[in-house]
Amino acid sequence: MIRVTLDFNCAVCGHDQFNLPVKREDGQQIRCANCTAYKCHTLDLERALVAMRREPPRTAA
Ligand SMILES: [Zn+2]
Repeated sequence: MIRVTLDFNCAVCGHDQFNLPVKREDGQQIRCANCTAYKCHTLDLERALVAMRREPPRTAA
């Protein structure tokens, strides 16, 4: 799992960091990094994931 900050907030606690699955065994679920509530596949989440995987990591150079 990797922890990322997204442009929306957890519906349960309002936290804006989420743990995203990176390995197959992590499954497809995205969890709030704070309260570990499961966030299901909303359109927003899918868009965030797609954007994350397409854009190379930005380095502060
Ligand atoms: Zn939460």
